[in-house]
Amino acid sequence: MVATGTENQSGKAFYVTTPIYYVNDAPHLGHAYTTVAGDVLTRWRRQRGEQVWFLTGTDEHGQKVLRTAEAKGVTPQEWCDKLVEEAWKPLWRHLEIANDDFIRTTEKRHTDRVREFVQDLYDKGEIYKGGYQGPYCVGCEEYKLPGELIAGEGEYTGKQLCPIHKRPVEILKEENYFFKLSEYGDKLLAHYEANPGFIQPESARNEVVSFVRQGLQDLSISRSTFDWGVPIPWDDEHVIYVWVDALLNYATAVGYNQNQDKFDASFPADVHLLGKDILRFHAVIWPALLMANGLRLPGRIVANGWLLVGGEKMSKSNLTGISPRDITSHFGVDAFRWYLLRAIAYGQDGSFSWEDLAARYTSELANDYGNLASRVAAMVGKYFDGVLPEASADGDAEKAIHDGLAKAVADADRKIGDDVEFQAGLQAIFDFVKQVNGYISEQEPWKVAKDDSPEGRARLATILYTAAESLRAVAVLLNPFMPASSQRLWESLGAEPALGPLAGQRVQDAGEWGRLPAGATVTKGAILFPRLEDKPTA
Ligand SMILES: [Zn+2]
Repeated sequence: MVATGTENQSGKAFYVTTPIYYVNDAPHLGHAYTTVAGDVLTRWRRQRGEQVWFLTGTDEHGQKVLRTAEAKGVTPQEWCDKLVEEAWKPLWRHLEIANDDFIRTTEKRHTDRVREFVQDLYDKGEIYKGGYQGPYCVGCEEYKLPGELIAGEGEYTGKQLCPIHKRPVEILKEENYFFKLSEYGDKLLAHYEANPGFIQPESARNEVVSFVRQGLQDLSISRSTFDWGVPIPWDDEHVIYVWVDALLNYATAVGYNQNQDKFDASFPADVHLLGKDILRFHAVIWPALLMANGLRLPGRIVANGWLLVGGEKMSKSNLTGISPRDITSHFGVDAFRWYLLRAIAYGQDGSFSWEDLAARYTSELANDYGNLASRVAAMVGKYFDGVLPEASADGDAEKAIHDGLAKAVADADRKIGDDVEFQAGLQAIFDFVKQVNGYISEQEPWKVAKDDSPEGRARLATILYTAAESLRAVAVLLNPFMPASSQRLWESLGAEPALGPLAGQRVQDAGEWGRLPAGATVTKGAILFPRLEDKPTA
């Protein structure tokens, strides 16, 4: 993958976004997937010592919100407030999401700036008034092309359905304002060409390029059939199309037209993370709007694939029926965060199943990793009274561990921090965990312990130091994925100072051998990943 030029300019934060989620949906597995990915990328880059700004939020305008609020007998603002405070923000706290800001599109800091942005485009001649009639999906908040629609069956026989929502479209006829999107096709194609890493993965890039090559239509950017939205500044009979309103959050949240210093220190985003169902909005409309207003384009747009749910326990419901809390109450937050990025290559479609999670939890977290940590702590307790001994007899076996760690750090840093390929990065870390397990099995410290000559003691000390120091590095590397268990391991090793970027535990230093000082107090601590049968069932 090619990193594009906007990253790491001096004085600018590395700016990561999730989409702003549609407030009307209950937060489900798909939302958690993208948000955990953004959080891990944020924590990883912070652990490199970089300044990072991580934004998430909610998209609160549009006809569907209005209709639901009416059905509930509350105002749309009351409905949005309730969802944000009772559903969205609590879930992100529960999942330990370290976002710096949470923007809501009904906030004045957003709506005022959206009006200014659109007024600016109007003044520049980028917007005109025209008529439009076409099939419209309320679920998508989008006009559909006739060729995209699918024929209804059963209760919808004779009707044309939205291909995404599988519900009938409505024929809308409106006098609308249009953005001259059709004039940006060549400029967009030139940008994709000049910046091969602009859209990831490759399959997403190819899809966007062929879509734009077919020619773009002008974009209707206003609606006059309902009023739950941001009014067009020069014509308050219209509200701004919800997608234009929503995309602008990436600018308004960091001070567009309000705080120039903050804006310069953040904008544009280095990485926009999103599900591939909303790829075109981000890879076509968003950059065209920015070009039209003379603003710089984001660094990368990284689309994740469809998250399919499989296995017996989950197949009863679909994706949107699964609350992340159903899973965390059984497996814990750390394992949930880890599994989302471990099971599926980011950017590809993948399957999520309860049975697969249980199997991987047991083999990789509880056995390979958690068991290694408790065995090492137990042996330091038993043979050295819990005081970490010094390594004084390094040989080829230790050299192989040092080299293995250096490779794991380099590979994980490149894959996770640069390429946004979490699965490959985790693979590098867990390959190292396996290597340390193999080292313990081969060195058989429990046999060496029977030799109480000075040479025997030195050998035993070296083996246990090597294992403990390896675990210290693993705690740093896994901290962005699993902050709670990494902290427990850190404390059990007696490592200092605190884990995390503020205390200077940088990714780069994870591989610097010997940071865990001899003499540290090693304690057994809580088991990192209890066996599933020992946990209360959900
Ligand atoms: Zn739809």
